[in-house]
Amino acid sequence: MNEPVLTIVVPCYNEEEVLFETTSQLSKMLSSLIVEKLAAPTSKILYVDDGSSDKTWELIEELSQQHPFVKGIKLTRNYGHQKALLAGLETARKKSDCVISIDADLQDDISVIREFMVKYFEGYDIVYGVRKSRDTDTFFKRATAQGFYRFMNKMGVNVVYNHADYRLLSKRALEELSRYPEQNLFLRGIVSLIGLKSTKVYYDRKERFAGVSKYPLKKMLAFAFDGITSFSVVPIRMITLIGALSFFISSIAGIYALVVKFLGRAELGWTSIIISIWFIGGLLLMSVGLIGEYIGKIYEETKNRPRFSIETDLFSEEETLVKEKSFYFSRRNE
Ligand code: UDP
Ligand code: MG
Repeated sequence: MNEPVLTIVVPCYNEEEVLFETTSQLSKMLSSLIVEKLAAPTSKILYVDDGSSDKTWELIEELSQQHPFVKGIKLTRNYGHQKALLAGLETARKKSDCVISIDADLQDDISVIREFMVKYFEGYDIVYGVRKSRDTDTFFKRATAQGFYRFMNKMGVNVVYNHADYRLLSKRALEELSRYPEQNLFLRGIVSLIGLKSTKVYYDRKERFAGVSKYPLKKMLAFAFDGITSFSVVPIRMITLIGALSFFISSIAGIYALVVKFLGRAELGWTSIIISIWFIGGLLLMSVGLIGEYIGKIYEETKNRPRFSIETDLFSEEETLVKEKSFYFSRRNE
């Protein structure tokens, strides 16, 4: 087998503090892979600037001039982690045999990239990076994240436990992925839907070495909610169940009320009426809201808007540049 062209895709949102270090570590890793013949010399690091408001893009441009490995694309605005990652994967797909996605803060141990490649050579199309433990996360992050995975699985969304977006995808897996046109993107769920031969590689998660987390609680909750409603109709089914249950209970209560009435012992009944009005009212509002969520998703999907727009692409244009140059040189030699 020829050495595969590897592209490491790194979404970046306001990551100016970490980019230098990330570049030096990833370049070192890539060089050693190339020396070991685990990756082709044309392998690249592809930064995706997700509409950062700091100097991230300027840095990426600068780094791409200094390092032969470094390339970048700039999105037109902030699209969020998942879409930024997708933009990177889609861009990388055309020129890579396999792609590894990793966060810019290098919380995920990059030394297992080698193991990813070994697994790729063994014929796996998808290699999941899985965290061994979460000792370095704060108690809060750990608890919420664990709750997240448990809840997702309960809701029928198949996600690999403790796997974030650190993974290797072969060209074949990427091509399959590009056939999923959804707007509401939850990559972790989609990747496990693809099927294909997959395996896991375990590693220890580190602390962010600079900068702050771009995933505050609010974004994390939105992410979890999005993940569930994009993948599972269990919540709607639960509402049907709750509805059926309350219908059952209220029929019994109704029979009881009638019996009491015919026995001539009926109370004025204010309390029970007020309580049931509020209870049923609340239940209905919640149910309508949840169904509205799904309708909202349908609305977004039917509009079929582009999922991201690229402003500048330093990755794909290289080829045309080379072509232009050779055209120029051949003209000169004539
Ligand atoms: N990120 C992004 N767009 C966003 C938010 C985050 O591209 O709107 C990137 C960010 O730069 C980082 C990755 O997503 O590379 C994960 O973010 P972070 O490390 O802040 O999340 P955490 O590790 O705290 O979950
Ligand atoms: Mg992080």
